[in-house]
Amino acid sequence: MSSDPEEDYIPWIQQFCELFGHDYFVPVSQDFIEDDFNLTGLSSQVPYYREALYTILDYQVETADDNGSNGTSNNKGSKTELPNKALLAHSAELLYGLIHARYIISKPGLTAMASKFERNEFGSCPRYYCDGMHLIPVGSTDIPGQETVRLYCPCCNDIYLPSSSRYLNIDGAFFGTTFPGLLVKMFPEIENQCRNRVYKVNQNDFGLRLFGFQISELSASGPRMKWLRLHPRTSQEKEEFNNCELSVPSEFDESDVPFNSDSEMGDPEDNDDDDKTMASEGN
Ligand SMILES: [Zn+2]
Repeated sequence: MSSDPEEDYIPWIQQFCELFGHDYFVPVSQDFIEDDFNLTGLSSQVPYYREALYTILDYQVETADDNGSNGTSNNKGSKTELPNKALLAHSAELLYGLIHARYIISKPGLTAMASKFERNEFGSCPRYYCDGMHLIPVGSTDIPGQETVRLYCPCCNDIYLPSSSRYLNIDGAFFGTTFPGLLVKMFPEIENQCRNRVYKVNQNDFGLRLFGFQISELSASGPRMKWLRLHPRTSQEKEEFNNCELSVPSEFDESDVPFNSDSEMGDPEDNDDDDKTMASEGN
């Protein structure tokens, strides 16, 4: 309508990132979106994929709404296939979110998110022993529409709900499950920060007490599973921790495979027992 729309024109991505509650997002670079390789497989996940992509890239997109008014559609058959504006907006947000989850595990995306992390834009860990450690957004699943965004604390390895309700409709899949682990691995400074905070506070400063007496760790109401959040302190503990760290075997030796399968097949009851003890400990 206006004679010079170029003047106050704001790119779609910038508009999206400035929306209320969207401050966890970083703007994805145009180059990243225009590289088809980065979008592999997304066309089957997003309805009106092409229109949504054009919207994000600020191309002119024909919607069912303006089709009715100007009547310049190329083929009448496609009229019903065109999305209306609300549908298109939803598809564009979904597509952008899924691209965002991929972008933040690329090098420029990680860097952009790291500076947001550094500025404490995702909030601090509420846990006393974490001493205000900065949090990292995480999704508990990579499938959109399942769960909203959560915040991961690299210090206590726990996951928290964002403190403000404005983030309760942000999809966790737009940040994904891979991102926090990769960020911590890429920036060892984060682990240093955790270590400094852990050493700063003595773990025995505070704990459950009854009239001044500590509760036994073996008691059912005692501070069980506390070890889950403890960091290794001595070199011996550190070594033990490194041995316990989950890792994918780098290669399968042929000699290993029958040994593993035999041992697993041999005593299946052992595994069952483990599960039971874990479950009862948790309760
Ligand atoms: Zn924490």
